[in-house]
Amino acid sequence: MEFSQYNVNALMHITPRPELVFTEGKGMWMTDHQGKRYLDYLQGWAVNCLGHSPDCIREALVEQSSKLLNPSPAFYNAPMAELANMLTTHSCFDRVFFTNSGAEANEGAIKLARKWGQLNKNGAFEIITFDHGFHGRTLATMSASGKPGWDTIFAPQVTGFPKADLNDIASVEKLINANTVAVMLEPVQGEGGVIPASSSFMQELRALTKKHNLLLIVDEVQTGMGRTGELFGYQLSGIEPDIMTLGKGIGGGVPLAALLCKEEVACFVPGDQGGTYNGNPLITAVGIAVLKSLIAPGFLEEVKEKSAYLSQALTQLSERFGLEGERGEGLLRALMLGSDIGARLVEVARDMQPIGLLINSPRPNLLRFMPALNVSYEEIDTMISMLGQVIQQVQAEQAATSSPT
Ligand SMILES: *Cc1c(COP(=O)(O)O)cnc(C)c1O
Repeated sequence: MEFSQYNVNALMHITPRPELVFTEGKGMWMTDHQGKRYLDYLQGWAVNCLGHSPDCIREALVEQSSKLLNPSPAFYNAPMAELANMLTTHSCFDRVFFTNSGAEANEGAIKLARKWGQLNKNGAFEIITFDHGFHGRTLATMSASGKPGWDTIFAPQVTGFPKADLNDIASVEKLINANTVAVMLEPVQGEGGVIPASSSFMQELRALTKKHNLLLIVDEVQTGMGRTGELFGYQLSGIEPDIMTLGKGIGGGVPLAALLCKEEVACFVPGDQGGTYNGNPLITAVGIAVLKSLIAPGFLEEVKEKSAYLSQALTQLSERFGLEGERGEGLLRALMLGSDIGARLVEVARDMQPIGLLINSPRPNLLRFMPALNVSYEEIDTMISMLGQVIQQVQAEQAATSSPT
């Protein structure tokens, strides 16, 4: 089928998209409408933690869809309870509220912190967030994000999110006042360009928030569910936050997210929070299948080994082409390009023949890699070799345009 036959014009134009329609995916590979295959280092934006269409998700969907889709959020269902118990068993948290997206989980975290502030801190409501942070696309989570202009483009937005600088504890301390109720951050800023919060910063933040009786909220929508090599990113620094949000990988490709908190913070009462699809058994059954895979013996050890392998391969690539190194945690990594060639690399990689490579450039001077957590060593080698060809081609183009003969 030709691209024009799909007639995409009835869709709102919310992002520039290439003229491709993806029709199938398996593991690290995806196929477009013309049958061309792509090695996929986006994986639905770090969503498909077990790759495209893993058997365990298909089986969970088939089995649960023949039993019960949605009894309504007014009733308990078995998968919802089981997944909540698995999450509290494997984290430092005691209570879970399921949502359908990361932004919705973060909205819930913001509401929970404000409620706690009403009950415990004379109505304190300000949540300190960070420059370059990303928390979602609802009005409040856009305001909480540190993207320039995001707190005003749909004004009037939600106030009460002063911005500090990541890895700079003094910049946080300076913003604390009687209205402050919490500090919220990503353990690794994902959309901001894969910038890890250092362990020492996370520890200082925990001490500072304890000292001032503030909540520490980690947005682990991108870093949670094994992405960093630990089940949750906060475990890298040995601290215990008060609130955590999960998304992306928790559903392995289906819309599932969660808000978790410690018992002392679980202050919602009936009427405060809810949602039609929240905790429905179809999707939480998938969450159980995904989490079982991640906690299987040896799985996270392999993630760590593969991330070391990917890190080393990216470092070698950087040396070979005179780039500026790599960074990240686990299988959330970035290659620093040293110049603004990210968008061009993405395009050339995608258009390679006979197979394409899907990568992402959240900032013009870097590439981000978020493979499936069960990516093979061979699929890492293939990506590195394809990327080498792409960098070579784009560097040659740049050289030709900067010194015309
Ligand atoms: C993707 C992301 C979100 C938003 O999640 P959605 O499911 O797109 O709403 C929030 N926080 C972080 C850290 C993310 O990476």
